[in-house]
Amino acid sequence: MGAGVPPAQRVTLAYQSPISPGRSWYEDSVGERPEYPALDGSVSCDVAIIGGGYTGLSAATHLAKAGLAVVLIEQHRFGDGASGRNGGQMGTGQRSWPEELEADLGFERSRALFDLAEEAKAHLLDFAAANAIEIDYAPGQISAAHKPRYVDDYRRHADILAERYNYPYLTFLDREATAAAVGSARYFGAVRDAGTGHIHPMKLLVGTARAAAAAGARLHENTAAIDISRKAGRIVVSTARGDVTADKVLVAVNAYGGNLEPVSAAHVMPIGSFIGATPPLPDDSPVIPGGEAVDDSRFVVRYFRKTSDNRLLFGGREVYSTDDPKGLKDQIRRQIAEIYPTLARTELTHAWGGYVGITMPRRPFVREVMPGVVSIAGFSGHGVMLSNFLGRLYAETVAGNRDRLRLFRELNIPAFPGGRRLRAPLLFLALNWFALRDRI
Ligand SMILES: Cc1cc2nc3c(=O)[nH]c(=O)nc-3n(C[C@H](O)[C@H](O)[C@H](O)COP(=O)(O)OP(=O)(O)OC[C@H]3O[C@@H](n4cnc5c(N)ncnc54)[C@H](O)[C@@H]3O)c2cc1C
Repeated sequence: MGAGVPPAQRVTLAYQSPISPGRSWYEDSVGERPEYPALDGSVSCDVAIIGGGYTGLSAATHLAKAGLAVVLIEQHRFGDGASGRNGGQMGTGQRSWPEELEADLGFERSRALFDLAEEAKAHLLDFAAANAIEIDYAPGQISAAHKPRYVDDYRRHADILAERYNYPYLTFLDREATAAAVGSARYFGAVRDAGTGHIHPMKLLVGTARAAAAAGARLHENTAAIDISRKAGRIVVSTARGDVTADKVLVAVNAYGGNLEPVSAAHVMPIGSFIGATPPLPDDSPVIPGGEAVDDSRFVVRYFRKTSDNRLLFGGREVYSTDDPKGLKDQIRRQIAEIYPTLARTELTHAWGGYVGITMPRRPFVREVMPGVVSIAGFSGHGVMLSNFLGRLYAETVAGNRDRLRLFRELNIPAFPGGRRLRAPLLFLALNWFALRDRI
């Protein structure tokens, strides 16, 4: 946020943001990916949206459908942020288990957040169907214990969700059943969730952009916001080749916002997460015979699943900075071999990364950061269904219907400690400590 500067000087504001590394398998399998023109000149609208991931594009679609004039700007191409490059696992509930949230927020709030997440899940599938977006949905999710000490937690979790959250879709799997379901003897127990699934994330993203444009939103790629300021009671989002002046602004930049908006930057940190893809596996491969997505109990979670053409997509390498790791394919191949030794020599066809926006308590960050400017980010690796839904909730709030974003605003996410200079090194130390605990 800055104090409005003349256009000629704005490009020198040293706005910096990370760029996702590597070409993803999603880019090679998404099909048609329409291009949208860069903003050229100044425009006025009801709502300006910065960031074309799920949050921004979902909000744009719902706002435009409600009859508002919307302009959305994306600094790169749609899908170049986390929404086009993620693991595609929808999950259930919030990133933290409801029983953990209960301890902190009480049962009522935990239950309300769980119910909203269930609505988010249904919303994603309904939205895709209503807008004819083929997202390659496949049902099922397995969460597996990588150490014996986590097995009882999973067993209890299944019971708690059934008894207290009316969620009957979790089944506990003992060690043998887990080995059969994952196709690996590496895990000690698991829960299978039959109430969720996984998708092709970029197909959803490209389809949402199409739906937003069809609803009348003006979409611009290759247009970075470099400043947000107030002028004559309105809000001005500056870009290199024109301003967007609006009554309201949604900052939906997640981990890619760099230093654009300082309040969001102080609360949401980027963590690099990396995924590799194998060539299509033979039909009789023992890898996840039921086709579920898998995640595990590590703090640096391993997440993997098969695609519609039978590849294994495997994520798990993290980097706590915006530097790209070297030798990515070999690192991911070694991680795959720990779980599937028979794939030790399988060369990966693709390896890519993206930035996950995390907050201190791993819960979404929703805040009015200046009058009329709302920031939504920090889904902490659990945004596939939630970010889409929070985009819709933002639209609901602006259209004046109801304010269900309040539940998230009231989470009162704290800033990372250490101020601008020290927070990255402090986080690096903390995360490496937890990563070390995964191995002991
Ligand atoms: C590798 C990886 C794996 C993941 N796996 C999963 C998973 O399996 N399940 C799950 O639920 N979640 C997962 N996530 C998280 C999930 O992808 C995100 O929570 C979700 O996509 C967030 O959407 P968003 O719209 O808020 O942010 P993004 O999709 O990151 O979009 C933000 C956009 O803002 C743009 N932007 C930033 N600054 C500017 C600016 N100044 N001007 C204009 N545009 C700007 C960026 O270019 C970007 O396109 C994963 C994330 C990554 C990176």
